Amino acid sequence: SKETLILLYGGRSAEREVSVLSAESVMRAVNYDRFNVKTYFITKSGDFIKTQEFITLPATDEKLMTNDSVVWNDKIAPSAIYETDAVVFPVLHGPMGEDGSIQGFLEILKLAYVGPNILSASSTMDKLLAKHVFESVGVPQVPYVAAFADENQAEIAEEVVEKLQFPVFVKPANMGSSVGISKVEDLTELARALTEAYKYDNRVVIEQGVDAREIECAVLGNGGEISATLPGEVVKDVAFYDYNSKYIDNKIQMDIPAHIAPKLAEQIQTYAIKAYKAVNGAGLSRCDFFVTTDGRLYLNEINAIPGFTQWSMYPLLWENMGLSYSALIEKLVDLAKSAFEIRE
Ligand code: ADP
Ligand code: MG
Ligand code: MG
Repeated sequence: SKETLILLYGGRSAEREVSVLSAESVMRAVNYDRFNVKTYFITKSGDFIKTQEFITLPATDEKLMTNDSVVWNDKIAPSAIYETDAVVFPVLHGPMGEDGSIQGFLEILKLAYVGPNILSASSTMDKLLAKHVFESVGVPQVPYVAAFADENQAEIAEEVVEKLQFPVFVKPANMGSSVGISKVEDLTELARALTEAYKYDNRVVIEQGVDAREIECAVLGNGGEISATLPGEVVKDVAFYDYNSKYIDNKIQMDIPAHIAPKLAEQIQTYAIKAYKAVNGAGLSRCDFFVTTDGRLYLNEINAIPGFTQWSMYPLLWENMGLSYSALIEKLVDLAKSAFEIRE
């Protein structure tokens, strides 16, 4: 008999639209000889709504139901997603998806789930905490200053002037998809950028801006069996990779594999696996690096649930290694099941 794969999509974070695109891609690529798929939409306010069921490959024009198409009466208690032996794929990004909360909820329900566990999700979701962890295992990062909303902002500005050079990047600790991030050229802009960032989180990271190529590496696995792909490059034609250029304007070009020296690629893979292990990585993650024009390598961040459409960097990096999108989904489900067996 077939296994049940439950897709959770939408969600409370600003990245809900990306989530819908990723989930739709997954729903279309699932091996329907092995799985039946059930989908649940999580609304902006956090309600769970039962949406569709697929037992065979859906038609190409079939969309996952979202805000304007869901039947609001089909709202359920979140725990009602439970089904014996089902595996859940929380195709969710950002807060309340990629931050450990959903993962904790699924563990309480005793469900197997794809992707990061509570620790890897929560620690990588907080850019400040993640920096402390990467620092402790010797993975290089750009210089930065930590800023907190309840501290004296003039003193924070002083520290920035002392330790960094403009331009700097101001980032709320708990966001993704460039939400709330600004590139800042002077002190006036810094004050404005901090106010903007504090709307999202009272923990903010101010980072040295670098002129760099953006090189990404896909990591897959649990515990003792972790592998990393050859890196790919995000080739930009915009000043920075913001939400619009990422998802709306489609201005991103990917070079897979990245045209970099084999030694550098190897160094990137080593750091990616080291960083992944340090946060107790599980399932998958995309590790994003900067390679500066003067040849320095820095880890920028780990995305525990990276964009997962069929044309996203993470699946394409695996495809380049010979693992197709459908096979990747199956591999992730298998990893979810083995993590579940160990846990239970
Ligand atoms: P998110 O989690 O939202 O993707 P990132 O930290 O990756 O946040 O920042 C988004 C983008 O902003 C990066 O992909 C890069 O283009 C740019 N950026 C971020 N930090 C820096 C930096 N220190 N120097 C140069 N560019 C940066
Ligand atoms: Mg991110
Ligand atoms: Mg990023």
